[in-house]
Amino acid sequence: MPNAQDRAPHPVVIVGAGLAGLTVALHVAERLPVVVLAKRPVEEGATAWAQGGIVGVLGGDDSIASHVHDTQEAGAGLVDEHTARFIAEHSARAIEWLVGCGVPFSADPQGPLGLHLTREGGHAVRRIAHAADATGKAIHDVLLERVRAHPNIALRERWMAVDVITSRHLKRDESPRCYGVYALDIDRQRVETLPAAAVVLATGGVGKVYRYTSNPDTATGDGIAMAWRAGCRVGNMEFIQFHPTCLYHPQERSFLITEALRGEGGRLTLPGMTGDAARFMAAHDARLELAPRDIVARAIDFEMKKHGLDHVWLDATHLGADYLREHFPTIHARCLKRGIDITAQPIPVVPAAHYSCGGVVTDLDGRSDLPGLYAVGETGFTGLHGANRLASNSLLECVVLGRTCAAHIGSRTGDEHPALPDWDESQVENADEQVVIAHNWDELRLLMWNYVGIVRTTRRLERAMHRIRLLRSEIDDYYANFRVNRDLLELRNLVDCAELIVRSALLRRESRGLHFSRDFPNALPVSFPTVLVRAARSGGRAKGKSLGLSG
Ligand SMILES: Cc1cc2nc3c(=O)[nH]c(=O)nc-3n(C[C@H](O)[C@H](O)[C@H](O)COP(=O)(O)OP(=O)(O)OC[C@H]3O[C@@H](n4cnc5c(N)ncnc54)[C@H](O)[C@@H]3O)c2cc1C
Repeated sequence: MPNAQDRAPHPVVIVGAGLAGLTVALHVAERLPVVVLAKRPVEEGATAWAQGGIVGVLGGDDSIASHVHDTQEAGAGLVDEHTARFIAEHSARAIEWLVGCGVPFSADPQGPLGLHLTREGGHAVRRIAHAADATGKAIHDVLLERVRAHPNIALRERWMAVDVITSRHLKRDESPRCYGVYALDIDRQRVETLPAAAVVLATGGVGKVYRYTSNPDTATGDGIAMAWRAGCRVGNMEFIQFHPTCLYHPQERSFLITEALRGEGGRLTLPGMTGDAARFMAAHDARLELAPRDIVARAIDFEMKKHGLDHVWLDATHLGADYLREHFPTIHARCLKRGIDITAQPIPVVPAAHYSCGGVVTDLDGRSDLPGLYAVGETGFTGLHGANRLASNSLLECVVLGRTCAAHIGSRTGDEHPALPDWDESQVENADEQVVIAHNWDELRLLMWNYVGIVRTTRRLERAMHRIRLLRSEIDDYYANFRVNRDLLELRNLVDCAELIVRSALLRRESRGLHFSRDFPNALPVSFPTVLVRAARSGGRAKGKSLGLSG
């Protein structure tokens, strides 16, 4: 039953405390009260893990046209040129804002804005601002400190958004819009109703849908799944970027072995073989280990499947112990902790899901299809990344869109806000089948890895879809009948995202960028983004029988 809401102005609710969420929060809070939700400790998220840096087109030998060109080259024909230009044009302002906030970027007195700019693969010039090799953490720490100190921002840690509240929850289908979110207070195990002037989904990517990923535990595609369930379009979900070399170790599923190790001469080899016979990159690309990321990832995947291997080796022992200790201290220490001495033995590596190029379709203000609902950062799909992301463009997108999104929210006049129905768990039981949820997590991630990974075929995708639908009906049943917890909610979101990825991959009847199909190995002469539209549904309850995917 609807209950009375207080009449105070509702805050803007931002779901996610990564770079996208914090940027929106700091800008919106100049005018409106803000609540930021983070489902795990606020330090967790992809932002703090970003190493390389953030693009800034800051003059000198660089130009907007050059950055747009590089973004388009990487994006393999699917980059939206207007978006790429807009983001490049706003990049200098984004870097200036971060510098103004106090981000300790690596300095160069001769460089633009006094910054040292580095260069990364795919970029024609030096245009990457960085803070040594821990850029994301440097940025996140500074913004977090500001958010914590801001009188207009309330940070709620271990609060997990479950679903956005829409007109459907009010049984009003005539003018769809977003009114707030249901959010699980994890410590109190209660789902609260949070009415909101606007809701911003900034929940990051979806890497955890794969067994091997470089992503943190937060990356379960929650924002994408929530927006989809709320009736928003989702685009380009088939384009998942895989990093070629993640450490293969049961306790270290998300540790990246930097590409610099290959850059310095590290060799990829097959376990069980010795000498030149063990090296396999020559069969795939003349540039050997220095071929682009997607080619190396595909080659490793091919060899693993061909030989039935769990991993390949990355051998750097010939570079010398002193050199490795000096140049790769973090990798050396982290591997040693797991009993692998990289100066004396090869490193077991697998490719790992790294970045989701697709997401919730938005405009350049972060607006989704549903009035009052926004999506920013890795959750959103603006067309910037096309079929493959150019390195260091993602942090930039978070800052540029975070700012425009905040400006749009601030420019809206207050909408009528009806009383919202409370979450109803009166009919549900306590879940006693946690083991089944854990099992379904493993099954989903393994099937996505095996059937929807780096190299795809139509038959494998169809098999994956069949299994995903079976899993979905089981998960929907749990969701309808048991009290929710984080694992169950994340699994529900992952299975939605898995289905979106497979559906998009089945629709793309070509190979392009990060999507490679053995059945359609060539690129079509003309190609478009894959945009999925959900069939309209009526009804919708705060909690109850399946709100599953259809249409
Ligand atoms: C290892 C690694 C290295 C990278 N290096 C670079 C780089 O050098 N340059 C670059 O540009 N990009 C890099 N990236 C990509 C970049 O880091 C991410 O795309 C970017 O940080 C995403 O920011 P975000 O704010 O969208 O999401 P995140 O930073 O992932 O934040 C997501 C937030 O949402 C919260 N959340 C999620 N679901 C919910 C929910 N249901 N309820 C409440 N809270 C929720 C999380 O707790 C978290 O606070 C890298 C990524 C990785 C994994």
